[in-house]
Amino acid sequence: MADCIFCRIVAGKHPAKQAGETTHVLAFHDNNPQAPIHVLLIPKEHVADSAADLGPQHGTMLVELFGLAGKIAREERLDLGWRLVTNVGPEAGQSVYHLHFHLLGGRQLRWPPG
Ligand code: 5GP
Ligand code: ZN
Repeated sequence: MADCIFCRIVAGKHPAKQAGETTHVLAFHDNNPQAPIHVLLIPKEHVADSAADLGPQHGTMLVELFGLAGKIAREERLDLGWRLVTNVGPEAGQSVYHLHFHLLGGRQLRWPPG
């Protein structure tokens, strides 16, 4: 999708500090970090606007995404814990409608998130 900021990042048309990738997933650092480590993990293809659109056809991509999240957490030495969250819709605060998961860590995280 041409007007999607995350599709532009995947295409190399918008800069982002990469954190890792797999065949179907790209990870990059959030440009407005909410924790010392704040990485976004997205499918390289715009296969879903949010987690509300996920189905069995996304299984391979999601397994890669969760595996990459754990790899990045190990690389960043988040031994004390980390969080993987996805916002769906306006009441959850979703602002970019290209599926993404936030990997947060490096500080004490509150629960519930707010
Ligand atoms: P949401 O609010 O949809 O759950 O999360 C979107 C996230 O994308 C926000 O944390 C926001 O800071 C991040 N973001 C928005 N635009 C850009 C960008 O151009 N580059 C990067 N690296 N992050 C972005
Ligand atoms: Zn997109």
